[in-house]
Amino acid sequence: MQIILFGAPGVGKGTQAKILSQKYNIKHISTGDILRHAIAERTDLGNAAKEVVERGDLVPDNLIGRLVKETLINMDYKKGFILDGFPRTITQCGLLDRIFEELKIENPYFVILKADTEIVVNRLTNRRLCTECATIVNIKDLDDTQTCPNCGARNTCIKREDDKDSVVRKRLEIYRKTTFPVIDYYKDKYTLAILNGTDPIDVVTQNIIKVLS
Ligand code: ADP
Ligand code: ZN
Repeated sequence: MQIILFGAPGVGKGTQAKILSQKYNIKHISTGDILRHAIAERTDLGNAAKEVVERGDLVPDNLIGRLVKETLINMDYKKGFILDGFPRTITQCGLLDRIFEELKIENPYFVILKADTEIVVNRLTNRRLCTECATIVNIKDLDDTQTCPNCGARNTCIKREDDKDSVVRKRLEIYRKTTFPVIDYYKDKYTLAILNGTDPIDVVTQNIIKVLS
């Protein structure tokens, strides 16, 4: 099963991708996670991307295109994957087309999650990421904000650098202007499923599963 999961920052792509990758036993490829990991590890890629990511801008298309291609080539992509965070520009669509052509990936599912801006701003503002287990949490859902509800680690759920207020607005603006047109690019090529990202997590998951089956 090959899935492209698409939608605005904060719409729930990462959360759903993690659930689906376990359910279908396929790899979750999150370009954002790969970049954040590289930044934390201070690799060449991380050092090159750090400033751009933390101020909410997009890293160069070629860099991210190469990253996705390498990731796919180095795994059993025939078995399936969930692509989360790519493509994000029309140029990246062209890059992805070429990668898919080369690897003979023909009919990926294209799943779009949608949500109102106010809701995603709210979610991003309250979002924390566990540095220990990479779980995404909303502090509004926690009784004890000091303890990770998934792995139990203390004081590891922190705000992403790019979830600060001013950066969030910029990312949403980039999504609206630069990323949203990706839908138009693919609407005649693939069957697109558009689902509501504001439903409860398990409802969104069920709706995605319905589309996939
Ligand atoms: P979100 O979907 O919540 O905005 P991600 O974790 O997907 O966050 O991405 C975080 C950041 O990583 C982006 O704001 C951008 O700087 C960088 N990034 C991730 N994917 C791409 C991509 N396909 N092209 C360019 N930059 C990217
Ligand atoms: Zn944790």
